[in-house]
Amino acid sequence: MQAESYFQLLNPLVFLLFAAGFFAVNAVRPSRAVLMLAISYLLGAGAFTVDILEQADIIQAGAIVISAVYAATAVLSAAGVACLYRGAAPWRLFGAAFVIHMSLYSWSYLANGYGWTSSFLANIGCGVIFSIGLVSIRNHLPRTIDKIIFWVYFVSCLQCFVRPLLLAYLAVGTSSAGDFDQTIFVMALHFVVGACAVTTGMALLVACSTDIINELQQRSITDRLSGVYNRRGFEETAESTLRSRGDHEFVAVILADIDHFKQVNDTKGHAFGDMVIAELGALFTQYADRDRIAGRIGGEEFAMLVVGEPLHAVKDLAEALRRDFSELRIETAESEGGPVFTASFGAALLQPGESLLSVIARADEALYLSKNLGRNCVSCETDLQVEKLRSAAGFHYRRKYRDDAAAVG
Ligand code: GH3
Ligand code: MG
Ligand code: MG
Repeated sequence: MQAESYFQLLNPLVFLLFAAGFFAVNAVRPSRAVLMLAISYLLGAGAFTVDILEQADIIQAGAIVISAVYAATAVLSAAGVACLYRGAAPWRLFGAAFVIHMSLYSWSYLANGYGWTSSFLANIGCGVIFSIGLVSIRNHLPRTIDKIIFWVYFVSCLQCFVRPLLLAYLAVGTSSAGDFDQTIFVMALHFVVGACAVTTGMALLVACSTDIINELQQRSITDRLSGVYNRRGFEETAESTLRSRGDHEFVAVILADIDHFKQVNDTKGHAFGDMVIAELGALFTQYADRDRIAGRIGGEEFAMLVVGEPLHAVKDLAEALRRDFSELRIETAESEGGPVFTASFGAALLQPGESLLSVIARADEALYLSKNLGRNCVSCETDLQVEKLRSAAGFHYRRKYRDDAAAVG
């Protein structure tokens, strides 16, 4: 084996390293696309190794077999990228490209032996397979890293077409296929394949890792039972919304607490209680559109931040949530039609310069007014003020009555 061939072993090594990287990503978050990429890099490593050993006359695998493994590597790589971005791969097109490519290659190899034409066809066939993957993802690239992957892939694809032309041009003068294989130009062009594989692999690994990080981040701020934000997620998202909103926009908070929930747990069991919480979470999700943020901020307590709506509209929204929840039925074995659940609601409007925690505290006061008024109703801070005036007036009249009674007595 010549010294240059040892240098060529870098390629299978690089492919193996990336295969390990993709297998690791797949172990953390199993995905068909990542598994395909891992297998494609593994196949690529195998194809390069066999190719190099064959060129060094150490084994006799046969050019057609080696070419088929290279083509399968290209198919799995392009299909993996298509699955990553579109959720599916154009398998029929890949299959057709693979069959046509292998037919042409086999025909050329059997007719003329190993040389310029077969090398030409091997490269162009892989280029066509990569192009199919590239065209299929061109409209599915939302992030910057996705666009980078597209262009890196484009260069990898382009070199499949440019490489055979360069080979034909630069290697003129070599007498036999064996000479041709060992030219410094061929070595350099093998190096280009390695460089493309490294760049594509790096970009794809970054994209897959970013997806995993985003998913973990999202999971850490989402409540699994109800599907809305957990307390941390609600506060973080609400705070960032408050920072980015316009100065004169209304911002309100609605709080909800399921009525007599301990009783639900005690009579129907904790698992049933969980289903009730999940149902209220689903209602909050349904009503939380673009300018509304929903979260489960306690055991059976939910909150919604509402941006851009005045207090009367916020009260209507809370009323709709209350009504829908009271109409909800979860069928049980004992009660046909399901028991009735209710929740009490409180709403407050953010004042200039007020913090999120302070407006939540005021919405909580309104919520407890609803509890005191008999539950299954909505109160807002204006109701709270009316109630305070009413109790102050009641206190005043009671004192006046006592004083009058004392004067008469
Ligand atoms: P009130 O009408 O005054 O709100 O009465 P309540 O019984 O709902 O009183 P409270 O709000 O204090 O009770 C909350 C109960 O919610 C206590 C706890 O056992 C239950 N709880 C808290 N988290 C969960 C949960 O994740 N699942 C279930 N099933 N129950 C929970
Ligand atoms: Mg509670
Ligand atoms: Mg409760």
